[in-house]
Amino acid sequence: MGVQVVETPEALRAVRRRLAGYIGAVYTMGALHEGHLSLLNTAREENDALIASIFINPTQFAPGEDYANYPRTLERDLELMDRAGVDVVFTPSPQDMYLPFHQTSVIVDEVSQGLEGASRPNHFRGVATVVAKLFNLTQPTTAYFGQKDAQQVVVIRRMVRDLNIPVEIAVCPTVREPDGLAMSSRNAYLKPDERKAAASLYRALKAAADAYDHGERDPSVLRMIACEELYREPLAIVDYVAINHPHTLYGVHEPTDEPILLSMAVKIGAPRLLDNCLLPYSLNNREHLTEILGVV
Ligand code: AMP
Repeated sequence: MGVQVVETPEALRAVRRRLAGYIGAVYTMGALHEGHLSLLNTAREENDALIASIFINPTQFAPGEDYANYPRTLERDLELMDRAGVDVVFTPSPQDMYLPFHQTSVIVDEVSQGLEGASRPNHFRGVATVVAKLFNLTQPTTAYFGQKDAQQVVVIRRMVRDLNIPVEIAVCPTVREPDGLAMSSRNAYLKPDERKAAASLYRALKAAADAYDHGERDPSVLRMIACEELYREPLAIVDYVAINHPHTLYGVHEPTDEPILLSMAVKIGAPRLLDNCLLPYSLNNREHLTEILGVV
């Protein structure tokens, strides 16, 4: 294997000091799929060196969430990262990332509170803190994040701006299965009938996108069109469907021609699935997402 695996922050710092030029970074929780690979491939193309991490961050899971059961496939992940041309993979233990007496965390206030934050109150505090730590450890020129976790992009972008962290954020579009289901490590939890039902999230996004293309601009109507598609699927239990400004995540209540973010969380069987898109739908590409999501 050409990829170098480092397990401790100290070892990573030593390796990082020897890298030069443009450094790309991709942070994952493992159980890699095509979504992760698209981030890795883009980062590989655009940089001299590529650092990735595999770390299931315990502080972003609430008690009772799936931390203990989260899929762990390290050997396979390392092989895929090797094949994707990753130079260094950081695979720390929770004990090395959170030393005894750890007390510091990053709270990105308002943008962490709605959408996912409403259902998972301390989630983004865990995410922002671990990403800040990973930025300090890996010191990339550009870090690549997936559109699938759009609120995460907004939270991290705000943190980077507010704390003057010297890193560029790039956003890569959501990679989907042939039936439109957004790839996710958690899709592995879906039973066969649930897996079929899970395509309803994409159908809901597309139904709203079609209405938008036909001139519908009223956010409450667009939202209802997406909801109706989800309600047709008996296994889908809607947590939220929302329309927000993609820069600030403020709710959008009036018709507008400015880009809007349609996002949803839907429980299907055990997992809670997320999906989102920008409207107009033509904006869901690397360039526009990077220009728009979380940029204030
Ligand atoms: P995770 O391992 O789920 O924490 O994801 C690591 C990174 O991959 C995050 O930036 C995610 O947004 C991104 N990601 C996850 N699923 C997808 C997908 N289907 N398409 C694009 N990026 C994704």
